[in-house]
Amino acid sequence: MDKKFYVTTAIDYTNDVIHIGHAYQKIISDVLARYHRLIGDKTFFLTGTDEHGQKVEKSAKEKGINPKEFVDKIAAEDKKQWDGLNISYDRFIRTTDEDHIKFAQEFYLKAKANGDIYKKKYEGLYCEGCESFKEESELIDGKCEFHPNKELQTVSEENYFFALSKYQKFLEDLLENNPEFVQPDSKRKEILSFIKSGLNDFSISRQNVSWGIPVPDDPTHTIYVWFDALINYLTYGEEEKCWPADVHVLGKDNQRFHAIYWPAMLKSASYELPKTILVHDFISLNGQKVSKSLGNVILPSDLTEKYGVDGTRYYFLRFGPLNNDVDITLDKITEVYNADLANGLGNLVARVGKLAELQNRPGQPKPSTFSLDSIETNLTNFQFGQALDDIWTNIRIVDGIISEEKLWENTSEKTDILDSVIDKILAIAYDLQPFLPETAKKVLDQFSNSKIKTIDPLFPRLTK
Ligand SMILES: [Zn+2]
Repeated sequence: MDKKFYVTTAIDYTNDVIHIGHAYQKIISDVLARYHRLIGDKTFFLTGTDEHGQKVEKSAKEKGINPKEFVDKIAAEDKKQWDGLNISYDRFIRTTDEDHIKFAQEFYLKAKANGDIYKKKYEGLYCEGCESFKEESELIDGKCEFHPNKELQTVSEENYFFALSKYQKFLEDLLENNPEFVQPDSKRKEILSFIKSGLNDFSISRQNVSWGIPVPDDPTHTIYVWFDALINYLTYGEEEKCWPADVHVLGKDNQRFHAIYWPAMLKSASYELPKTILVHDFISLNGQKVSKSLGNVILPSDLTEKYGVDGTRYYFLRFGPLNNDVDITLDKITEVYNADLANGLGNLVARVGKLAELQNRPGQPKPSTFSLDSIETNLTNFQFGQALDDIWTNIRIVDGIISEEKLWENTSEKTDILDSVIDKILAIAYDLQPFLPETAKKVLDQFSNSKIKTIDPLFPRLTK
């Protein structure tokens, strides 16, 4: 039987265009999707936009246009950014898509039929930034940890609630007994201790937000954004028959929704659970949070213009916020680009290409015997930086062979060594395919041609 692999990113909220803070999860998800396609798995890769809710309604109003026009524009711009990073998604889902709206309403009714949805009057502290009610225990100095500059509002409404507290024991067992369910393990422990502190039911409808999916049996309410957005994974998963997801990739600001709300919702509506929730940390820029209000927003396209698509992907994959928050500066990216790409990989390919051309060496046939076994363990464990680290060790080994054997001297006696070096470069390029797809293709093409010829520099050196 063919194996399948289904990976999702978080869908980006459309109150504004995305920025580089959102890029890391798209790139690592893309690496997983490309890897699984290459090893022959039937692969499904979903990304998209989360388009409903109060913040969108408000942003559209400020621009004097209706919410649909507003999100159409943002979704198109987001998509352009991801295309520019070579993100190979199979579907770009929008929560305003008709199939999703229908599916979210059906899902709501399933949870209701299971007795998990009820109406109650509620007063609580609400963070507009998160579009979520906050427990006192979650606050830091009385503020939302993700929106310390926003005052919390006291909101009093009669809403529909989801009986999350019923799933307390189920969630505790799930996270306790399935170490792979939330990764890395530090995040699993954090979430587990939050669950153990006691779960409260959460509101899943709003009365005064008209930009949303109507509650199917009470259209005076709209479905709360999270009870709408999370379901996108299932809309596509059910349509393509690829549910459950193998990996949901998301940032730590979304971890509670994905690791607590989502499994309980799925259990309630009788769906299988995703296998793994991979949580990453945040990027800051020159020591500051990337945010529009700070005026330091950089788009992925700003980076690809300077470093190329693969130059940008390389930096994020190698030094991205997998287990820790990381700070990036353009100087650091330039430094790494010059050292690892211009000098490292780029220089090796240029040197060997030149030697091969001068000696009229034929390329080697397409590397049918190559496999991606050497990166399997790292990618199974989501160690993207380590995988590249290992490939760069191989690059240094090949550089060493060239210097030691002085391949540029007495060349006619050393064609066997040169051919073995070419073979090693092909193996390196083969491994690079999921990470740097354009570069890998150029190198594979160059060294498997009937006659090897020099090509333009892969990574022209940059001055600061
Ligand atoms: Zn918040």
